[in-house]
Amino acid sequence: MTVNLPQNEILKLREKFYDATVTDVIAVQPALWIFRLKPDVGLSSYIPGQYTTIGLGFWEKCVEGNAPEILKPSEEKKLLRRAYSISHPVVKPDGKLYKEGECDFFEFYVALVLVGGETPTPPRLTPRLFSLKKGDRLSLGPKVTGHYHLKKPYAGNQYFFFSTGTGEAPHNAMVWQLLSGGFQGPIVNCVCTRYRIDQAYRAVHEKLAKEHSNYKVIYLATREKDEPKLYCQDLVEQGLFEKKTGYIFDSKNTHVYLCGNPSMIGRQYPKPKGIIEILESRGFTIHTPARNGNIHFEAYW
Ligand SMILES: Cc1cc2nc3c(=O)[nH]c(=O)nc-3n(C[C@H](O)[C@H](O)[C@H](O)COP(=O)(O)OP(=O)(O)OC[C@H]3O[C@@H](n4cnc5c(N)ncnc54)[C@H](O)[C@@H]3O)c2cc1C
Repeated sequence: MTVNLPQNEILKLREKFYDATVTDVIAVQPALWIFRLKPDVGLSSYIPGQYTTIGLGFWEKCVEGNAPEILKPSEEKKLLRRAYSISHPVVKPDGKLYKEGECDFFEFYVALVLVGGETPTPPRLTPRLFSLKKGDRLSLGPKVTGHYHLKKPYAGNQYFFFSTGTGEAPHNAMVWQLLSGGFQGPIVNCVCTRYRIDQAYRAVHEKLAKEHSNYKVIYLATREKDEPKLYCQDLVEQGLFEKKTGYIFDSKNTHVYLCGNPSMIGRQYPKPKGIIEILESRGFTIHTPARNGNIHFEAYW
């Protein structure tokens, strides 16, 4: 359903609710975009790995291909929000790592979710987000929050990151934090997507891996004909991770970060088995705000 508000009312609602500007949109492919946003009040401080919310009014138009939406009259003038991890460009246009405080925008890495046909609850925010262009306005935050970040002290640890799709976003921020902070221990960034075209940050990370001997990257594409169909959890379970990197999962000094699809992360009882189950059987424990552990995770749904 299209919201039928007069244009001047829409302008007033945008004025009332929106507090940030789209400064850049990078279309990795039609359904996968990087958004760079600047809040009117400047960037709030945050810990790499955390998330904030992006909001747009129900009155904004959607891209085509989504099931029809049924809006209650009370929703017409409301804002809808979703959580998004703050990603990071990692390197500047000259290829050098950003220094602390140098990046003057928030970067987000977002997949367009569309459900065609008939569904009572079609995706709502991303069909609107993917109608935006450079210069458009939206609502951001204001709070940046979340426990999914590195915990001090870092020295003596090794950090292994596993993500699916846009779950790479918080890892870009944490890898940037480690490398730009001069961390010398082992870091592995493993990213799994369907196709290689979905690996937006691959060139950046492969170049960094050549420049930093302690940084290794693994990219998996499960639907490319010339690659074996391997998921992150297969690498861990079958010992391929150790073979590829030379690093071992030692529960005494390894922190594992898992982000994206819940099937990769685990705890989808009774199955499929995810990385949590595989590592718990090797002495790893889940980190919670109340108890220190070495498995950290953020599920996107
Ligand atoms: C803490 C947190 C951080 C998040 N960070 C990101 C991020 O950095 N980038 C991002 O793209 N999404 C992220 N998400 C998901 C995001 O909040 C939205 O759910 C998503 O963008 C879809 O919104 P929607 O309103 O269009 O559809 P919704 O109605 O919210 O979701 C519809 C369905 O889409 C699927 N879905 C949700 N997210 C994704 C995804 N990323 N890729 C593929 N399918 C998905 C799920 O099956 C979900 O049930 C995050 C979620 C959480 C909880």
